[in-house]
Amino acid sequence: MSDVAEFIMPSPEKAAWVIDIAQGTVSWSNAIAKQRFGDALGYDRNGLLFIDRALKQDLHEFLSRANASEPLCFHWLMRDVDQCLHRCVAKVIALGEKTHGFSVEASPCPPHMAQQLPRTYAHSSLSERLNSIVLMTFTGSGQQHFFSQKACALFTNVGHVKELFAVASAANHFWTRLQSGTVVDQEIRLATVEGIRWFRVEAQRNQQTGMIDIYAQDIQELRDYEVALYRLQNYDELTDLPNRHLLYQQLERAHKMATQRQRRYGILYLDLDGFKVVNDTFGHRLGDQLLQEVANRIKATIPSRSCLYRLGGDEFVVVLEHVQGVDELERIAHSINAAAATPYPVSDLEMMITTSIGIACYPEHGDGIDALLKNADAAMYRSKSITHNGFHVYHKQLTDRYSAYMTLGGGLRRAIEEGQFELYFQPKLRASDEVIVGAEALIRWQHPEWGCISPDQFIPIAEESGLILPLGEWVIRQACQQIKQWREQGLPALAISVNLSGRQFMQPDLVEMVRKILQETGVDPRYLELELTESMLMSDADETIEKLHDFRKMGLTLSIDDFGTGYSSLAYLKKFPIQALKIDRSFIQDLSRDSDDDAIVKATIAMASSLNLKVIAEGVENRDQLQVLTDYRCEEVQGYLFAKPMSNKEFAHYLAQQNIVHNDDQITDSDA
Ligand code: C2E
Ligand code: CA
Ligand code: CA
Repeated sequence: MSDVAEFIMPSPEKAAWVIDIAQGTVSWSNAIAKQRFGDALGYDRNGLLFIDRALKQDLHEFLSRANASEPLCFHWLMRDVDQCLHRCVAKVIALGEKTHGFSVEASPCPPHMAQQLPRTYAHSSLSERLNSIVLMTFTGSGQQHFFSQKACALFTNVGHVKELFAVASAANHFWTRLQSGTVVDQEIRLATVEGIRWFRVEAQRNQQTGMIDIYAQDIQELRDYEVALYRLQNYDELTDLPNRHLLYQQLERAHKMATQRQRRYGILYLDLDGFKVVNDTFGHRLGDQLLQEVANRIKATIPSRSCLYRLGGDEFVVVLEHVQGVDELERIAHSINAAAATPYPVSDLEMMITTSIGIACYPEHGDGIDALLKNADAAMYRSKSITHNGFHVYHKQLTDRYSAYMTLGGGLRRAIEEGQFELYFQPKLRASDEVIVGAEALIRWQHPEWGCISPDQFIPIAEESGLILPLGEWVIRQACQQIKQWREQGLPALAISVNLSGRQFMQPDLVEMVRKILQETGVDPRYLELELTESMLMSDADETIEKLHDFRKMGLTLSIDDFGTGYSSLAYLKKFPIQALKIDRSFIQDLSRDSDDDAIVKATIAMASSLNLKVIAEGVENRDQLQVLTDYRCEEVQGYLFAKPMSNKEFAHYLAQQNIVHNDDQITDSDA
């Protein structure tokens, strides 16, 4: 992304110099001018810089023809000693009573800009620029009279002055204005032998001769430059979508129209789910490719009268004017969710990414642009916190939650210091006889004001802020202490699994940290299991595999969490020393009702067992699901059907009443 501020506030240092035409000398108005353009403008003699004789001659001639009362101004592009592109503006100024000069100012073009222009651009010096000035005289009735050399080269067979113009109506308008005695000074397209080009044209009827004098300066290059600059300021380079700048412009217009005519307009605020993980694991090049694909797909999905903008990163906005009602926006959101979620083929991989969308509509959800954008954003966060790949319509209470969200980051830091976290435990059971075989540790944040906050809400913030590292360490230590404590209380030993986040997994001293905690707490590593996600394994493979082997050597169990939602196949997983797969909750949800999910689960279990991997189904909520899972020979299950996550005390109580399998029956020493 380009930095718009760069254009709004160009570097204050403009190079400036003055050319004295009578003397043929250049005097620098500032040091930067001499430094940047010293060699480009002339030759040094006795400490004075002279322009070359031919240029001096041209300038003389030019000024003698120019109408001294009309201040003339030229624009061109020029490169300095370092080949950096500058935009030059020269004005004719009076230096004495009869002497004239040019005052020139050069401002640097933005660096990205210069890269985008063709190399051939901007070698022009002032003399070339003067050479490109076209001088023409026509008779009072419009017939060709005098053409300078350049004019002859550019325009052949001009019968009437109107034939210079590319557009007939512009020609007529020009002619009428001249007839009425107006001095014409405008930018207009002329039909040259090189094609249609933009010129700045100055024309007037000479009072003494009755002739029509025309000066024209070719400004096509400058126009191209300005168009490119406009694109750079208003469009996103990666996706070619309009950016925040244009979004505000359209919103201002839409808002004005809507208030005048009492209409509605709507905003959809989109954010990709888990895009950061894609970037971190696959690198930015692939991330960029994915963004382009997603942008194209969304663009193809939304109605043609709506417009898609990229705000930066993985955030997009859709604006729809003249909306009938909120349900119209909901339908669009629904189709974006559906379209975005089908896999993307990106360099040999089948990538999956989903979107979360927030909806706000004028006037019901805010009375100004900023309020609507903020509220759509808040609704988007809300949607993300409930589920991925969904949408949410703004409602008033959200604003409070949103400000809460924004302060979560600050709160997290304090929460670690003040010990507001707690581990909950959810049992894992053997499917065949519902005997407890282990438990998953799930973190809970008891906020002093807001109550219990879901890990889905704060883990992403902890990831972003880096606080996940101390937090993750706390989880592992706490889980180990819990194992030890239960053991001391005489409860049978159970394996506890902890979740690792992506950033935590990349932590270089992770293995050492875990080893140290196990030593400190004296816990047998066989009772500690790590839940990883597919995306963690896709990153830098060698290091990842090494890390996994280190854990295996220590005796830990490794499992893949949320299996099926990521990018990898079972065949791919074979490379890694893992022992178990947890089939994602989303596949279990519709089991026995959705035949697609049935088929996926069945195939996953069959293939996993052929690879010697244990399969756990998470999110089991009813007997029908359990029945299907046992039919397919799924070994372990976890879910609300058996128990919700519980505090350590509740869990100890629960354990005391249940059948528990002795862990030594479960854990074998063989590597998968
Ligand atoms: P997860 O690893 O997929 O954990 C399972 C989530 O599903 C838990 O949500 C659990 O409460 C919920 N769940 C269990 N059984 C059922 C069921 O039958 N139905 C439904 N609808 N849900 C069920 P929870 O505790 O809110 O955790 C959410 C996610 O936060 C976890 O998803 C995990 O990715 C993350 N998380 C939790 N604790 C930690 C932690 O200590 N470290 C890290 N890095 N992530 C954690
Ligand atoms: Ca988990
Ligand atoms: Ca899961």
